Amino acid sequence: KAKAAGRGCYRVFSEDMREEASRKLELETAIRQGLQAGEFCMHYQPQVDLRSGQVHGMEALIRWRHPQRGWVPPTEFISVAEETGLIATLGAWTLKRACRDARRIQDSTGQSLTVSVNVSPRQFLQRDLPEQVQAACREVQLDPRSLMLEITESSLIQDGEEARRILMQLRAQGVRVAIDDFGTGYSSLSHITRFAVDQLKIDRSFVRDVCDDAADAAVAQAIIAMAHSLGIEVVAEGIEREEQLCYLRTHHCDQGQGYHFGAAVSAEEFVAQGLHLPRLLPDPRSAALF
Ligand code: C2E
Ligand code: MG
Ligand code: MG
Ligand code: MG
Repeated sequence: KAKAAGRGCYRVFSEDMREEASRKLELETAIRQGLQAGEFCMHYQPQVDLRSGQVHGMEALIRWRHPQRGWVPPTEFISVAEETGLIATLGAWTLKRACRDARRIQDSTGQSLTVSVNVSPRQFLQRDLPEQVQAACREVQLDPRSLMLEITESSLIQDGEEARRILMQLRAQGVRVAIDDFGTGYSSLSHITRFAVDQLKIDRSFVRDVCDDAADAAVAQAIIAMAHSLGIEVVAEGIEREEQLCYLRTHHCDQGQGYHFGAAVSAEEFVAQGLHLPRLLPDPRSAALF
């Protein structure tokens, strides 16, 4: 009986695998065609300076509107693009588009806003990434100092030596690097010092209950203190409520991002929104700033 059940399980398992493989293949083809057909676009979410209340920059987030499937979230296709190697093409497109839009946003607003671009592990370890970045900036005359690349710690552990080489080349160009989703991965001190990163982004899972959960608050505070003592700036992700904002400002987090300030929108809408966000209420301690 056990044997029969075992065999049954095996069959189901292999069918699942086959389904998974064909789903991936289908998605890969759809991404390739979608790029050709112009179904992808970049949206921009404001990153706000928590002291001044001014928009400091924006994170570029990829969006895909498939004619039949509708909006497909990046979490569904970035991993497939990574696995199939298609991330090289998709990543190059993303970088170019984000640099072009950033230059346009800077021109329209008259402010040297920064643009943060997500770079996944396989894309980061491409040998020609620094050249690609340089070319993307040069093509639209974007100052590389306006560009921040968001990587995750997993990009640093696969091949530490290669990662260091790439980071050094990027820094030499003036491009900065942020560690995204900080606190969820290895959160290794040696990663931060050895690789000389410029920014840490506190993962939104710690921001969610930062006002009510002592452990989350402790993690957020520890990240901020450690980063500041190393001269690294800190961005809090996923600020949705006034209380979270208050807490993070009180604890000297440098920048914030989240639905409280605004979701990601097209470059045109970003400019139309303006750079003064009414949602940032004055902090009594720094009332003079407003
Ligand atoms: P991420 O880089 O950590 O981006 C933040 C995600 O949180 C975005 O989801 C954003 O829309 C969402 N978010 C922003 N504010 C809030 C908030 O207040 N509450 C909540 N619950 N969520 C908020 P999105 O755009 O779906 O992207 C998901 C992930 O996909 C990103 O996480 C990033 O890892 C990846 N991704 C997005 N765009 C790109 C891209 O162009 N290239 C690469 N390689 N990865 C990308
Ligand atoms: Mg990010
Ligand atoms: Mg993140
Ligand atoms: Mg993430």
